[in-house]
Amino acid sequence: MGEGERSEQGGGDRMGEGERSEQGGGDRIDVNPLGLHHVTAVASDPQRNVDFYLEVLGLRLIKQTVNFDAPDTYHLYYGDEAGSPGTILTFFPWPGAPRGRHGAGQTTTTSFSIPQSSLGWWKERIAARGVEVLETASRMDEDVLVVADPDGLRIELVAHTGTDPRPPWERGPVPHDHAIRGLYSVTLTEASDERTVDHLTDQLGFRLVGEEGGRARFETGAGGAGARVDVLDRPDAPRGMVAAGTIHHVAWRAPDDDAQLEWRQQIVDLGLDVTAVLDRQYFHSIYFREPGGVLFEIATDGPGFTIDESPEAMGTQLRLPPWLERDRDRIAAALPPLKLPQSGGEGSA
Ligand code: ZN
Repeated sequence: MGEGERSEQGGGDRMGEGERSEQGGGDRIDVNPLGLHHVTAVASDPQRNVDFYLEVLGLRLIKQTVNFDAPDTYHLYYGDEAGSPGTILTFFPWPGAPRGRHGAGQTTTTSFSIPQSSLGWWKERIAARGVEVLETASRMDEDVLVVADPDGLRIELVAHTGTDPRPPWERGPVPHDHAIRGLYSVTLTEASDERTVDHLTDQLGFRLVGEEGGRARFETGAGGAGARVDVLDRPDAPRGMVAAGTIHHVAWRAPDDDAQLEWRQQIVDLGLDVTAVLDRQYFHSIYFREPGGVLFEIATDGPGFTIDESPEAMGTQLRLPPWLERDRDRIAAALPPLKLPQSGGEGSA
């Protein structure tokens, strides 16, 4: 998928053996992410992407920027009012990108948390907007509406019995009582889940909290909505292929830079190929692949999305990191124009 993926997948600068043994003997803290930080997917047309996530799902566009590794492409961030970690779905929209293939070694579903009583309201809204419904299901303690975004990305709206106190974005078209509260979980599809399960539980501190029909559910941190991952064991699934309509990676929350560095060292010690810490402007990131092939990122909670614009202005203008500012004119000219909807707030279905 071009420069972005190459550099994110790249080996980074693995620390040498000497450094590893010097740091390995100290206090060992277990890697245990606080929860989901964000999910990043590939789209095709950026305007269709904006229209769906703002006007249909009612998320806030919290940042318009570019793919730092391929600045001729947008990087669009959606989330709650503040851009809180755990509410964020981001896209690299590549105009004309071919469809990818959902399959093994991928994060195949992004699930959002909605109030338990809202599923009927959402079914009406989705039907009225002509959005493709892939599935409705009941599983464990939740009812689920699975829809396809304009590129075929699987999005779940999960009405669940757990409490989710996170405040929604209030100035979108979805009224407060029904609005998305943030990410609920992600689903990984694996050709053989054993090594992934071991990795999550033994090495990343996740806890098994449920199993049903080839689906195993894990939680991290405090658990609950925003801190869950489901793993599907699908031996017959084709290998996933990243392109439009598929997820590129899933990011887990580190509280700060110190924790991230310690966790990075532990991941190095496991023998996994992990990148150096990369400056993503709004957070700091490391990337590695879990044993089943899914690209994981660990991202810091800070510095956050108000580092380069006010809370009120977030998402309304193209923002570039300092090292790309000098090329702003050229970069902006190469991007297709985006038309943002006027936020309504009256909440029509
Ligand atoms: Zn990311």
